[in-house]
Amino acid sequence: MNVKSITLNNHIKMPEVGYGVFRVEDGPELERAVQTAIKLGYRSIDTAAIYGNEESVGKGINKAIEAGIVSREELFVTSKVWNNGLSYDETIAAYEESLEKMGLDYLDLYLIHWPGKEKYMESWKALESLYKEGRIKAIGVSNFQVHHLEHLLEEAEITPVVNQIEFHPKLIQTEVRDFCQKHNIQVEAWSPLMNAELLSNETIKGIAQSHGKSPAQVILRWDLQQGVITIPKSMTESRIQENISIYDFELTSEQMDQLDALNEGLRSGPDPDEFDF
Ligand code: NDP
Repeated sequence: MNVKSITLNNHIKMPEVGYGVFRVEDGPELERAVQTAIKLGYRSIDTAAIYGNEESVGKGINKAIEAGIVSREELFVTSKVWNNGLSYDETIAAYEESLEKMGLDYLDLYLIHWPGKEKYMESWKALESLYKEGRIKAIGVSNFQVHHLEHLLEEAEITPVVNQIEFHPKLIQTEVRDFCQKHNIQVEAWSPLMNAELLSNETIKGIAQSHGKSPAQVILRWDLQQGVITIPKSMTESRIQENISIYDFELTSEQMDQLDALNEGLRSGPDPDEFDF
């Protein structure tokens, strides 16, 4: 399965579907799952320092490379700094620690995980230095609201390539998306399936039935048709496969509208304005 890519604002290409690994323990099961995902065609993998599983993600990646399934250059690896008010030097050290755990010599994308309360500017300066030194291919943010982005852009030299936010049919984040679009910041959806909660939704099930597809495939297709990068997580091989098998059908504009209409502004994770460390 060939996943298509989107060109980011620094001209780097990022696969539009990736493999997420939140709430998965470090260990051989994850190492195998990462190899399986790569074998099945995933080229983008999303982890974070706080997930505590960078070692297994790295092992899975390196084994897939050693087995000749893929080259490092073909992969797009993302991790995130747990920005609990880190200084410039601490952020650089966090990046180096992530690389060491993963056994990699660069990351494709490094994100500030949460804005916290105005704590992100020093970290951003560190990310800018890493990028300028060529130690990282792209830098971005996660869970940034419009006011965080406005503040960042006032002081930043480099515009983030990506804002990774909670995004699914119950939370379509119009304001953040409009701002990102205006500033050429790519939106990436976390918990695209609302951690499986949306899979029993009757509207989504109905649309899925009409295409002979699963509810998960319908939601992920809805992401792609509106230019949102998506990173579903699964530890089940058949679902890992299912989640990238989304290139052989198309939602109608009416179905896209039906899915948009499910929006309730409902979060499954923390509100970035409330969440401090
Ligand atoms: P998802 O919305 O991806 O849902 C994952 C759940 O859905 C799992 O229980 C999985 O089960 C199940 N599932 C996956 N595919 C299918 C399918 N085809 N059919 C039925 N069930 C399915 O949740 P996540 O919260 O994991 O979000 C995805 C990724 O986003 C994370 O892994 C992480 O990389 C990122 N993220 C980032 C955050 C941030 O703050 N930046 C916060 C949260 C997530 P099973 O594994 O048993 O197959």
